[in-house]
Amino acid sequence: MISHWPTHQEIDINVPISVEHGLQLRSQRGEIVKNWWGRGLLAAMDSTAVKEELDAGKRYARKGQIEWMECSESTVKASVQGRDDKPYTVTIAFKALPGAAWTAVLTELSQRLDLCGAILGGSMPEDVQALFERHDAAVLPADPPHSTCDCERTERPCRHMLAVACLVADRVDTRPLLLFELRGLPQEQFMTRLRELWNLPLPDVDDADVPQPSERSVTGYYRRPDVEPETQPTAPPKVDVLAKLGIPQFFNQDDQTSLQTLRKLYHDHIRR
Ligand SMILES: [Zn+2]
Repeated sequence: MISHWPTHQEIDINVPISVEHGLQLRSQRGEIVKNWWGRGLLAAMDSTAVKEELDAGKRYARKGQIEWMECSESTVKASVQGRDDKPYTVTIAFKALPGAAWTAVLTELSQRLDLCGAILGGSMPEDVQALFERHDAAVLPADPPHSTCDCERTERPCRHMLAVACLVADRVDTRPLLLFELRGLPQEQFMTRLRELWNLPLPDVDDADVPQPSERSVTGYYRRPDVEPETQPTAPPKVDVLAKLGIPQFFNQDDQTSLQTLRKLYHDHIRR
């Protein structure tokens, strides 16, 4: 009987070195993401990939081959353990929207409390996409982001880039504000600028008592394991949006009926 000795290529595909505290995807089978913006972002990153690399990238992501991932100023940087002893460094640089586009989008968004509440609650109605388009902008990138990996594979995007793309899409799928950050608007600025548009005071020390969308900044979600390992997928945030945002100035604060309606509106969107 002739036994089959695996080729180098086959070993490379199937047996990356295991990672003890790798970052995990929510989905272990089927689609990586389920929401339109997560799908759209993933499509922008993997549309030019060859199937073999795409399949391997998904497998790497589901196996937890990504040791850490950081997101800062439209750029994602991650460490992916492959078959070599030394993990590969991947960067994915997204194109930020111009400041003027963000100003126009936020100005209109500030008048749509339903959409603000939904976004803060981890959802994004398709109306948001139309809102961006009215200002000649797009919430999703039209072109593949500029990506790099220091591996020696000839395929681009390589499986390591694609594994990171899966993880980015997974995180964005429950946190639209992370997508905004990748498009050039840090999460903190989203809150600050809405408050400015509503003529609300900036947060003070009392805000420490108010539930936050996350106890950690967007940049810190996926820290290196030697700082704080994150091995479990993060759940969508549950927040009291009305308490978080305050009450827009154009609302009559003595009008309890309207306030109750506003609060219900926020909460209805958060539950979706
Ligand atoms: Zn690579």
